Amino acid sequence: MSALFLATANAHKVDEFRQLLGARHLVLSFRDTSARIDVPETADTFGGNALLKAVAWARYLSIDACNLGVEWVVADDSGLEVDALGGAPGVHSARFAALRGGAKGNSADVDNNALLLRLMADVPEGRRTARFRCVLAVVPVSDPNPGAAVYFFGACEGRLLGLGAGAHGFGYDPLFVPEGETRSFAELGMEEKGRMSHRARAVAGLARWLGERGAGMGD
Ligand code: IMP
Repeated sequence: MSALFLATANAHKVDEFRQLLGARHLVLSFRDTSARIDVPETADTFGGNALLKAVAWARYLSIDACNLGVEWVVADDSGLEVDALGGAPGVHSARFAALRGGAKGNSADVDNNALLLRLMADVPEGRRTARFRCVLAVVPVSDPNPGAAVYFFGACEGRLLGLGAGAHGFGYDPLFVPEGETRSFAELGMEEKGRMSHRARAVAGLARWLGERGAGMGD
């Protein structure tokens, strides 16, 4: 049996990973340690930021005293790219409103969504295309270095609503309707979102890779 540590402080991401990986893998997270590592996301790509988070946590967990018995650290960096905004908020998705206001740190989802709605107010239906992207960086605790990282990618195409809809999920979920759907991610809920989301696609690659390495439970 192998255990993964998910290098995120986002409880929603942890829940989605647990739902996506099901009973096949043990997913530990910040809930299982008192450690809190604040990794500045200074890279300008999702992969670069995922790598920073994965390596920082793998280095921490490689110190015997705090080893949770995990073999792999998985970091998820994700965000929304809006075509009418030239790909923004992109890697700045979590701190979109704060950056505009000159503040530090991440913004509340409600502020990010309000800013996005404002910027998109005059954009007509046919030009409201967007996509979520997710990059997973996976680093072994036994070799917590950038050169040992493996990556998995997922994207989900869709369009933006003019008004939020739905109460599930997090982030921009109320504003995003995936291709082929009429309901937003926040209306679909975690199970349906998990059949088509950017994260689900990236995690499918990760699960296959872990399976090939015989890392699943009861495989
Ligand atoms: P990260 O934690 O730096 O990767 O920030 C990701 C940000 O992108 C989140 O704070 C959300 O604003 C947005 N985001 C990423 N994935 C999703 C998703 O599945 N639904 C809604 N928003 C998401």
